Amino acid sequence: MRHIAIIGSGPAGYYTAEAVQKQWGDDVHVDVFDRLPVPYGLIRTGVAPDHQSIKAVSNRYEKTALTENVRFVGNVSIGSDVSIDELCDLYDAVVLATGAPNDRALGLPGESLKNVFGSAEFVGWYNGHPQFAALAPDLSGKSAAVIGMGNVALDVARILSKTEAEFTGSDIVGHALSALTASGIQQVTIVGRRGPYQVAMTPKELGELAHLERASPRVDPEDLPDEAEDAILEPGLRKSVTHLRSFAAIPASIHSDAEIEIHFDLFASPVAMHGSGKVRSVEVERTVVEAGRAVGTGETYQIPADLVVTCIGYRTSPIPGVPFDERMGRFANDEGRILTGLYCVGWARRGPTGTIGTNRPDGYSVVEKIGEDIDSGKLGRADKQGRAGFDALAMERALDIVTFRDWKKIEEAEAAAARDGSPREKFVDIAAMIRTLG
Ligand code: NAP
Repeated sequence: MRHIAIIGSGPAGYYTAEAVQKQWGDDVHVDVFDRLPVPYGLIRTGVAPDHQSIKAVSNRYEKTALTENVRFVGNVSIGSDVSIDELCDLYDAVVLATGAPNDRALGLPGESLKNVFGSAEFVGWYNGHPQFAALAPDLSGKSAAVIGMGNVALDVARILSKTEAEFTGSDIVGHALSALTASGIQQVTIVGRRGPYQVAMTPKELGELAHLERASPRVDPEDLPDEAEDAILEPGLRKSVTHLRSFAAIPASIHSDAEIEIHFDLFASPVAMHGSGKVRSVEVERTVVEAGRAVGTGETYQIPADLVVTCIGYRTSPIPGVPFDERMGRFANDEGRILTGLYCVGWARRGPTGTIGTNRPDGYSVVEKIGEDIDSGKLGRADKQGRAGFDALAMERALDIVTFRDWKKIEEAEAAAARDGSPREKFVDIAAMIRTLG
């Protein structure tokens, strides 16, 4: 019997569990750990609440979770409740699928002013992540700046712009829906340090901005190169640029009629945030793009911002004793291998890039590596206790473990508490989740 521990129950974790099962069938036990009592990681707390179809991928993870040889071990923090060394002693292989839950900082003056948030915090707030549920951003001002030109920036800009009715069918948490409904924001500026050919936003997500009830997207036509140049772009980027062109063609009268304008401020690199106590503006430097890089021109100006959300990427949480690549913000690894018996997968391996589906081949490839290491005799000591050993440790430490069956009870209670048309009202604190279990 093989014993595999996977730390993290998001897409990377469950695709890895699926791959382990395919590889060893009934001859393996997989324990999928999570520090929260609920599974699915970013599917629950990262994917936008108005993108329910994307969240449906959790049905696939549930199939894996419900098989005999895979079990969910929730409400256990690896590093504090149990150490990595202890897990490595118990299991043949330990796979870190812990994602990249921390915001990268811009490192600019004024970044610590009130109402400046990283996207992990802000997205966690509207998605009901227990760590960020109490964030209480002040949405009473007129202007918001969203820094970054990726899909997370788009999610944040869209969520800030939707009407209450547009959240029907979403699972946005009640506290965020109330705050957004009462929001005074009229101007959302998406700040990009490079130009339209360098956007990281994908076409489908960008196109959604054209269909918002009360918001209109604005791109300055002079920021767009001659249309003939689009021919050199790869098809996805070309489609995104086509959306930007269509936003640039929206007449000014539409913008002035809209309650909210979403302005793409391109070629603008943030240099500081200003305000007294609370943020009031973002100072940016006009850039030109040379050989793909943003180069400052020395010209600066202020973008009004009563709220700032930086959407510039994430870092993995280091674990004491596990080699870490500080510059890249992820575990130091060679194609998923960290140390003998210790692996990483997903964002913890490659950094915060790619779609949910990218984690599938990642999971399969790390399991291939584990297989090679078992075959070559590096792993697979006969004295590994696996699950039984962990259970003994958990009992000794009186850990309050949440099982998959427990999660189904939490899920049921969340569905029962849902607003009309919404799939669930999430519990936003761990104690409330545990109380549901009686
Ligand atoms: P991302 O796609 O890497 O975008 C990060 C953005 O931040 C880039 O535009 C980058 O600009 C900018 N940036 C970085 N450092 C900066 C700085 N110092 N100053 C100004 N701008 C800076 O990351 P993300 O939006 O966080 O998304 C993470 C991953 O999740 C991506 O793969 C994304 O596609 C995926 N995702 C997908 C969906 C979806 O499919 N619906 C939704 C959300 C997220 P430069 O390019 O100039 O560095």
